[in-house]
Amino acid sequence: MPLDILTIPCLADNYAFLAHDPDTGDTALIDAPEAAPILAALAETGWKLTDVLITHHHYDHVDGLQDILTEHPARVTGASADAHRLPALDVQVAEGDQVTVGSETGAIIDVSGHTVGHIAFHFPASKAVFTADSLMALGCGRVFEGTKPQMHESLQKLAALPDDTRVYSGHEYTAANGKFALTIDPENTELISRLREVADKRASDIPTVPSLLSEELATNPFLRAHDPAIQTHLGMEGANATDVFKEIRTRKDNF
Ligand code: ZN
Ligand code: FE
Repeated sequence: MPLDILTIPCLADNYAFLAHDPDTGDTALIDAPEAAPILAALAETGWKLTDVLITHHHYDHVDGLQDILTEHPARVTGASADAHRLPALDVQVAEGDQVTVGSETGAIIDVSGHTVGHIAFHFPASKAVFTADSLMALGCGRVFEGTKPQMHESLQKLAALPDDTRVYSGHEYTAANGKFALTIDPENTELISRLREVADKRASDIPTVPSLLSEELATNPFLRAHDPAIQTHLGMEGANATDVFKEIRTRKDNF
């Protein structure tokens, strides 16, 4: 049976996730922005926390960890590249390694760019990928530590996952990302109709995360640097996708 995945709003606009294996009862927390809402979700579901999977070292992804572990001791997994700046890890992983949650196996994907050492967790049997601040709904994380070509390469790895994968990203930035996306891809009818759905959800305080990879491929400008309409709109017909990506990311930084 696929993992049961619960989205937990934390802080102003972060998301944490609980991924629960109904067969074994094992449960993983993906990122720990803030303890209280996560502890409340564990109490409400009665799920037994066995694992914490950390995507990257930023405070808004780890700050709640200690208080959660005090009540729910669990095995903590994070990137070996970031072990020096993450909370104490029980398991250190890098691209190509696997993690298990109950009877499910997840693959580690290095998605450096936002930070160098940022990882994503892909659970193919559950069609789920936890991307935090790499690939986001209609956007991608700001490039703080890596380079824009590195971020582009990281997003290409995620773009190559099966289309029906759900993308569990770290923040509710979708409406703002969408406003920017329209400036890059104004004629994209799928984008325009997605923005209407996003506005409706946000008006009712419904998370727009997770999203489907197929919708990201169709509407997220950061996955569409190869698209002729976008290239023409940017005056970059025939440019290589990495250069187009750099231009889109630079425009977003100044948006
Ligand atoms: Zn971050
Ligand atoms: Fe973040």
